[in-house]
Amino acid sequence: MAKNVLIAGAGLAGLATALRLSKKGYRVEIVEKNDNAGGRLNQLKKDGFTFDTGPSFFSMSYEFTNFAKECNIRLPFEYYELDPLYSVTFRKNDFPYHLYKDISKLAAQFSETEPDFEQGMRKYLDKCRRLYHDTNIVIKSNYDSLLDYLLTLMKVNPVHLPVIFRNFWQQVSHYVKSNDAREILSLVAFFLGKTPFDTAAVYTLLSYTEFMHDGYYNVVGGMYKIVEGIVEELEKENVKIHYNTEIVDFIAEGRTLKYLVDKNGRKWGSDIIIVNGDAAVFRGSVFRRKEYSQEKLDRMDWTMGSLTIYLGLRCKLPGISHHNYYLGDNYREYAEKVFKHPGVMEKPYYYVNVLSRSNPGCAPEGCESLFFVCPVPDLRFKNNWDDRDAIVDGIIDDFSGRIKKDIRPEIISRTVYTPVDWRDQFNLHRGSGLGLSHKMLQIGGFRPKNFDEEFLNVFYAGASTIPGTGLPMVIISSRLATERVEQYSKP
Ligand SMILES: Cc1cc2nc3c(=O)[nH]c(=O)nc-3n(C[C@H](O)[C@H](O)[C@H](O)COP(=O)(O)OP(=O)(O)OC[C@H]3O[C@@H](n4cnc5c(N)ncnc54)[C@H](O)[C@@H]3O)c2cc1C
Repeated sequence: MAKNVLIAGAGLAGLATALRLSKKGYRVEIVEKNDNAGGRLNQLKKDGFTFDTGPSFFSMSYEFTNFAKECNIRLPFEYYELDPLYSVTFRKNDFPYHLYKDISKLAAQFSETEPDFEQGMRKYLDKCRRLYHDTNIVIKSNYDSLLDYLLTLMKVNPVHLPVIFRNFWQQVSHYVKSNDAREILSLVAFFLGKTPFDTAAVYTLLSYTEFMHDGYYNVVGGMYKIVEGIVEELEKENVKIHYNTEIVDFIAEGRTLKYLVDKNGRKWGSDIIIVNGDAAVFRGSVFRRKEYSQEKLDRMDWTMGSLTIYLGLRCKLPGISHHNYYLGDNYREYAEKVFKHPGVMEKPYYYVNVLSRSNPGCAPEGCESLFFVCPVPDLRFKNNWDDRDAIVDGIIDDFSGRIKKDIRPEIISRTVYTPVDWRDQFNLHRGSGLGLSHKMLQIGGFRPKNFDEEFLNVFYAGASTIPGTGLPMVIISSRLATERVEQYSKP
């Protein structure tokens, strides 16, 4: 039985796969480009503040608890539920809508704009519930071929067929009527890195996971505790992580990959290799596959670029929830332009996370640590970020206006990551924050596979292979990659 495993990348999927395999008796080593673990699930400590730099919440908490159970450990971090899930403020209003899981409490906020909201919402969630349960098998399975995937799809109850031909917006609009309600409910599509107008309606199942099946969670002490906890477990299993080791080349013998080669020419050999770097990018840049050349990658459908801003304030902002979305008054026009037109940033839509609201240790006393995410065009459509400070100033001014407090004089720490930084830190194609999109022809059997086309001993785990992006998804991906490895190493 092949026992040595080398993992290229210490993102969440790489770490989780390493732990699963080491618990099954494999000898695992990890090589990571950066000087710390976590990949996009990372943190920044600066000027006395701590910021989550990427993910700021997760859903489907049971994927984490199952992961811990399967590894026979106690979950190595503590999480707590967010209620309201988040708050949404439109430019035209002074007040935020709070997204409570209690649907009657949620509906009370729509009593004037949409008196029948509660009835529509309950019907919508019921449909999302059925979608979730009926498609679960599609998300959680490995596929050996496209046919295999299509056969699995055929097991899904055909009653859902009409949903396949709708987008997220159309599906939501079927159940709720006011623009406010439609925009608020369809925001989830942005969490997947696209807009409600180009995200398949099947992903409305996420509304069920957020409102009913589970919820949204934050981690005590900040999201990076997830990484620290898993790394500690890996240390107990003697899994070594070699940092500052970027893989740029390979040596193969026939259909077996013998070595990955790092930037300094060092060869890393192993029986089995798992790639946690982006599954499409790595195939192109390291394995030099024609199907994943830069031009071919550019023609694929990528999630939006991320502009992220980390601010330390020397004051508190008591009126603001943990998670907040600030929307404008031109939702459809904005959604149509956000991927390709840098001009959208003149009227920005953005998300603000107040990490110190629930984790006081993340900011000095009397201070607040804020994290902004603003969707922006990726580097195909805006390559030059010399104007980043002016853009960021615009967002800060807009936010100050929305909350009716000028935060500019209160800023004592300021850091900005543009899509250039996201690309360079984690080898993300054109700075696309969430990787490949989830359009119908890029999911399941159409997504880059979690086994290699050429090398029999190479597998993939992470956001751009199956099942998709987001923390619970990459935890599932680590299980699917582990199953591949076990199958491969059977005598
Ligand atoms: C701004 C932002 C906000 C987000 N918010 C959320 C959220 O709130 N909730 C949520 O669930 N998800 C969120 N996500 C998505 C989530 O972060 C990702 O889906 C997830 O972290 C991806 O994990 P991964 O292991 O697949 O990839 P990564 O985290 O990218 O890990 C891959 C690792 O491989 C390394 N690597 C790459 N190439 C090489 C190479 N050639 N050699 C060696 N190492 C290499 C990278 O440095 C990296 O450490 C967010 C993402 C972004 C960008």
